[in-house]
Amino acid sequence: MNLTAESHRVPLSDGNSIPLLGLGTYADPQKTPKGSCLESVKIAIDTGYRHIDGAFVYYNEHEVGQAIREKIAEGKIKREDIFYCGKLWNTCHPPELVRPTLEKTLKILQLDYVDLYIIELPMAFKPGDAIYPKDENGKFIYHETDLCATWEAMEACKDAGLAKSIGVSNFNRRQLEMILNKPGLKYKPVSNQVECHPYFTQPKLLEFCRQHDIVIVGYSPLGTSRDETWVNVSSPPLLKDPVLNAIGKKYNKTAAQVALRFSIQRGVVVIPKSFNPQRIRENFQIFDFSLTEKEMKEIEALNKNVRYVELLM
Ligand code: NAP
Repeated sequence: MNLTAESHRVPLSDGNSIPLLGLGTYADPQKTPKGSCLESVKIAIDTGYRHIDGAFVYYNEHEVGQAIREKIAEGKIKREDIFYCGKLWNTCHPPELVRPTLEKTLKILQLDYVDLYIIELPMAFKPGDAIYPKDENGKFIYHETDLCATWEAMEACKDAGLAKSIGVSNFNRRQLEMILNKPGLKYKPVSNQVECHPYFTQPKLLEFCRQHDIVIVGYSPLGTSRDETWVNVSSPPLLKDPVLNAIGKKYNKTAAQVALRFSIQRGVVVIPKSFNPQRIRENFQIFDFSLTEKEMKEIEALNKNVRYVELLM
């Protein structure tokens, strides 16, 4: 695949398109200084990023919105240049909550629409103010969900112009099939955001999604921040991998750049998170080299089929 920074978008099944590289914005709110997300999104836009991945539960969506609006006011970009992906949280699956939840996100962002709105997880928690509702024994309070009914409410958000495209996240094949086979389906999910990187290459899901025109957006493309509170750190750090480093040496690139290039060359959209100016720029420098077929195969062979993000809840 011949990719350049100018042409780095992939078509979506609804006629829209998504930039192959986006900035992830999840950072532990307890450990991250206020304003870092704002500054990072602005640096990313100046660097050339046009795709930002966020969520209500990242607690920094207001900073993302502010950064986008400031860059528009500066004349650096227009709203239509930006691709923002927001997410419907687990406590908001009942169909009557979907539109008000998206409207709340738009209010926080101070934007009129999101480019992509996705169901964050195929399981639900009890609706209410608690993001992680728990009982008196500290156990999560789950809630039954009818993913097809939630999907119909997502379709209504697209029809209302609040989301240009709609998709899902963390869905397996069976859950995707439930939506694809839903009687009266109006819009297919355009994308499925899942963990995807050289140690977890998702070959079967990737093939299934390809057959159904569903773009895979790979989260944790650099192997996560290795935060022990939610990451399986028994799997070795991706960026220390000798093969990725050796290939990087050949092209004068880092292991991170090789990992990202590997994904985009497979048609997987990547959303690396960085709030560090140098690394934000580094992660963008992946359009000026390409991996050979042999190198792609070598990296594919690194697959361990082990997730960093186990989502134990
Ligand atoms: P990631 O992007 O694989 O890795 C982020 C970590 O790598 C951070 O600690 C970052 O630190 C560091 N980093 C960034 N660039 C680097 C480079 N060039 N060299 C070395 N280290 C580098 O992990 P992630 O945050 O788990 O995933 C990315 C995004 O995917 C998230 O931010 C979020 O938007 C999304 N996500 C979605 C879900 C879901 O369920 N849908 C789940 C997980 C993540 P610095 O910031 O200090 O650079």
